[in-house]
Amino acid sequence: MKKQEIDSFSEVLAADVRESVHSGSASGVTKRREVLVADFPDANAIRRLAGQIKQHTIEHLDKYLEQAERSLTANGVKVHFAWDGASAKEAIVKILEARKAHTICKSKSMASEEIELNDYLTDKGYDIVETDLGEFILQLDNDHPSHVVKPIIHKNRRQIATTFEKHGLGAYNDEPEVITQRARKFLRKKYLQGEVTMTGGNFISAESGRMVIVTNEGNSRFGLAGAKCHIALIGIEKLVPTDRDLGVMLNLLGRSATGQQLTVYTEFVSGPRSAEQPEGPEEMHVILFNNNRTEVLASDCREILRCIRCGACMNVCPVYRQSSGHAYRSVYPGPLGAVLSPLLAGKARFPELADLPKASSLCGACQEVCPVDIPIPDLLLRLRNRAKLEKAGKAAIGTPDMTLWATLATHPTAWRTAMKSANLLNGLPYDVLPLAPLRAWSKQRTLPRWEGGKFRAWMKDRKQGDKS
Ligand code: SF4
Repeated sequence: MKKQEIDSFSEVLAADVRESVHSGSASGVTKRREVLVADFPDANAIRRLAGQIKQHTIEHLDKYLEQAERSLTANGVKVHFAWDGASAKEAIVKILEARKAHTICKSKSMASEEIELNDYLTDKGYDIVETDLGEFILQLDNDHPSHVVKPIIHKNRRQIATTFEKHGLGAYNDEPEVITQRARKFLRKKYLQGEVTMTGGNFISAESGRMVIVTNEGNSRFGLAGAKCHIALIGIEKLVPTDRDLGVMLNLLGRSATGQQLTVYTEFVSGPRSAEQPEGPEEMHVILFNNNRTEVLASDCREILRCIRCGACMNVCPVYRQSSGHAYRSVYPGPLGAVLSPLLAGKARFPELADLPKASSLCGACQEVCPVDIPIPDLLLRLRNRAKLEKAGKAAIGTPDMTLWATLATHPTAWRTAMKSANLLNGLPYDVLPLAPLRAWSKQRTLPRWEGGKFRAWMKDRKQGDKS
């Protein structure tokens, strides 16, 4: 039987990569459990509340987008709406040209990965530098993130030390402190040169226009302190209705993502600096980015837009742990990616990624840990069904043909006949069949006798009220 792409990828995965992914995700699961459950004995209650807030928001997204636009504008922010990657990139370049900017310090942003912004700006001659340590290492390696929170989960410190040596950041040294200090020294100079800082954004309150950016390294804070202009690229689903809702989300995001009560730097950005403030960007742009999100909203999988990108579902997923994030052939890996990536690909490109929803054992662990209670297993099943209905060829690879089963299961007479006829299997000499695997298998095991039709006969003979 032909293998699915994700299986083939996993089979040839280097042992050290598998080990890095496995240990990185396992530690995330343990820390999350310790911190979330210790602080919230009924963690499911707050997860459900967060899920309701986000579900309400996406179901009234038109209203909250208009409100957010008004609030942001009142705060002095220039708001842009980008329909797709091309229009987002165009808007960014226009801002850079207007400011005659060349150097851009960038914080981690999955939205920018979606549109391959770095390559685009580099091709146009801009100097764009990633300031999140993990993303910086990926940029040096010309690599891509394999996890939404721990982008270099697939690397170990020896590989990183080799990369630093190759790029002139010091002789080989794999001590984490040395690696961090070297990156810090290099990046500090860039912060001073950076005319523009680019960030993503974890949440925007529609009520106040406050944007929240969380990091553990303080890199976005450094970027904001030094730059004259701030550009934030944010998916339209990142809204919450009110500031109070931010409290619920922040209580869950750090705990679910890294097992921290709160990320080290939690910044509330309320617009460009005012006349009284000594520093900070004098100009701020928020690009609210669609890129097929409205198509997802119109689908029967819209719940995935609740996602707050904590990464907990990938940490706990047995398929992700064995195959790594790159096996998902898209920006978003793990159970989140198995649902979101084929949807964000849009109708025309859906077949290219239609096999991803099959990368799951449907164990349900992803839903159990999801801070916004997304019914991921249900969504995976809906997408499998869609792939089948749309005859997305790739999704069929590795799946046995179930036509015979489906016919029997939907025709009671045929089913009854088949069950009774299958009693003939009891006389089948498995050990002499011309199928080597079946012969080998049957040498080790004795199959129970087929008893087709007996259950029905037993049911028929039972008297009403008989509890035997
Ligand atoms: S789907 Fe849920 S668990 Fe997975 S990244 Fe999104 S919010 Fe986190």
